[in-house]
Amino acid sequence: MLLRAVDVFDIYVEPFIHSGFRLPNQPYSYYYRSLFSLHNETLSVWIHLLGTFILIGQVFHQIFHFPSGEDSMILSAYVFYNYFGACLMLLCSAQAHLLHSRTLADHIRSFYLDYFGINFYGFTSGIILYKFSFQQHFHIEDRSTDETRYYMILALFTLYSLSMACFCKIFYHRPYPLSHKCLQCSGVLLVYLYQIWPILKMLFLTYVFPDERQELNEHGEKALFWHLLQIVSFVLSGFIFVGRIPERFYPGGFDLFGQSHHTFHFTIFLMVYCQSNAVYEDILSSSSKMIEHNLIKDLLFTLLVLILQLLSICSWFRISRPAIERRYQATFDD
Ligand SMILES: [Zn+2]
Repeated sequence: MLLRAVDVFDIYVEPFIHSGFRLPNQPYSYYYRSLFSLHNETLSVWIHLLGTFILIGQVFHQIFHFPSGEDSMILSAYVFYNYFGACLMLLCSAQAHLLHSRTLADHIRSFYLDYFGINFYGFTSGIILYKFSFQQHFHIEDRSTDETRYYMILALFTLYSLSMACFCKIFYHRPYPLSHKCLQCSGVLLVYLYQIWPILKMLFLTYVFPDERQELNEHGEKALFWHLLQIVSFVLSGFIFVGRIPERFYPGGFDLFGQSHHTFHFTIFLMVYCQSNAVYEDILSSSSKMIEHNLIKDLLFTLLVLILQLLSICSWFRISRPAIERRYQATFDD
């Protein structure tokens, strides 16, 4: 049995989606079983679950086919690191769509975990791009100071982005003003632009004003092509997320199949898939250049950011839950 939008709290409802809602306040097993039935979250969950399976298959394929060399072990570890961040993001998103309509507390918890997944990937992806893509294309020499500064700024931007997403959840309610979308997107945009800016510059120099000084080997060229695809996927995902097309023109007509959030999830998967291929090609390209690696430093930085981000969502959860529950006059039932 499925409910209509008017039967559930409006915080569970996306604009222009009128039906296909699962029952609230059921045991967790009900939501896990709902993976195998059709409702308005089924496709959103499965696109990211299938995406995770594809990425797991791809990481093992790439690691097993990694050319042997002096530092092949450490480079394989970086390939794995990049996929770890990507898979965690897709899984955090899948759990959010699976569980968010159980109770208000589950809604807040699961979406804050979703925001964590996005921003943790924002950090791991930024590290890996800096490490391999920027060095590959820009021959960065003064590594130690530049690198630490880059990591710290990136960490701060991901914490800002995470906090902004959590803040929007507690501060805004329907009908959402334009400032809600602007603030919600500002953090992700900031993190993305910060990590992709040098690649954009490189694409510009390669395709618009070819620079003869930039000589790319075969892997470098393939990497740039994948970078271009991942940027296109990201831009597309942004337009789809904001535009809510096609359901905007036919409210209620795309509740189960074809709503913009399904397409949004697909473009996010495409972005991650293309980024992974780009980074892999960059790693192959750079493996002959004796780039200095400090995996322990990178892992420690990542662990620190992971802890800070988790502490951040725990704090926001403690602040948000009573406020949102009061708003919906719900009782603490778990
Ligand atoms: Zn989603």
